[in-house]
Amino acid sequence: MIREIAVRVLEFGYVCDHCLGRQFSRLGKENNAEKGKVIRRFLCMEDTAEKTGADPANFRDKHPKCAVCEDVFERLPEIAEKIAKKTAGMEFETFLLGIRMSDSLVMNEEALWERIDVRYSEPIKSEISRELAGMIAEKTGRRQDAKRPDVIITFDLQKNETEVFSNPIFIYGEYKKFVRGLPQTSSPHYRESVQDIIAKPFMKFSSAASNVFHALGREDKEARCLVWRPFILELKQPVRRKIDLKRMEKAINRGKRVKVRGLKFCKKKDVSELKARRPYKVYRLVVDFERKVENIEDAKKLAGTIKQRTPARVLGTKEDKTKYKKVKSIKWKKINNKRYRFEITAESGLYLRELISGDNGRTKPSISGLLKNRAVIKEFDLVGLEE
Ligand SMILES: [Zn+2]
Repeated sequence: MIREIAVRVLEFGYVCDHCLGRQFSRLGKENNAEKGKVIRRFLCMEDTAEKTGADPANFRDKHPKCAVCEDVFERLPEIAEKIAKKTAGMEFETFLLGIRMSDSLVMNEEALWERIDVRYSEPIKSEISRELAGMIAEKTGRRQDAKRPDVIITFDLQKNETEVFSNPIFIYGEYKKFVRGLPQTSSPHYRESVQDIIAKPFMKFSSAASNVFHALGREDKEARCLVWRPFILELKQPVRRKIDLKRMEKAINRGKRVKVRGLKFCKKKDVSELKARRPYKVYRLVVDFERKVENIEDAKKLAGTIKQRTPARVLGTKEDKTKYKKVKSIKWKKINNKRYRFEITAESGLYLRELISGDNGRTKPSISGLLKNRAVIKEFDLVGLEE
């Protein structure tokens, strides 16, 4: 059986040891090249060489190219060298290699497989991947890890090009914001954000291409955040990965506006878990009324379900929908006849400004509506998250 397949393989043209041996990959433990060498020698001894082309010396061209792999296996050390050079400045422990095949190799293999019994064969792509990955591991001193690679290396045989993609790094932490007028995430409209302040030392150290800020709940630019709010910072395409989190924390906390604590590395799936959390939010707010407040007890009726249409101020960017959200509790303290301090515990996603103003009837009930007295938020802070 082996002999029969081997003869058919060699009738295909000159075939190198790798490509000959690979057709017997499932037999025995030797690597493909060793198998190919043994089988070739055996056929030469049997003197079938002349007929089959087992002996390369029988070819008019003394260095014929392999009819299957086009001598790609001879080029692998050089490709591995190129990849090692490309990753030289990068910090990583683990990698995953992906190979994009060239059309001609795919067609060669198909043509060969049409002629032979392929029951012991291994695809050429898997041998190239294995061999090249082994060489990269040896040259770089890094190991392969298909599940959690730090970098993904691709080699395109068609274009003879290699690309290195550095997987993102995720850092979990909690922050507080002590000033008003600072948006939560970066935007071209504002000079700085909580995201910018937290990401700054990370970007500098890791040389990442960009970053994404995932926080537990959105934050109004004018609200302070006086409770520790969880977030995950995602660094994209980092060059350096060994980040000293204590050092980052110190660098961020040198500033007065934003403080962080509890930084730790986390996984991608933690982002969706963070996004899925819907805590109740406790706000402390100062509200100004148009007229003297006479019926403050009516504010109690705010506790319950609030019917809220998308606020008029965000209609340009958000779809007009009606949402039902709960207010769990409301407390107040009089500052003067027309100014009160409230503490409101409300479900995630409730627009607070509209809960006070009523948004021309788009939010019901509201403080303005219940007290029949136009009310606006002067300032507010997030002071608690309840899960
Ligand atoms: Zn070959």
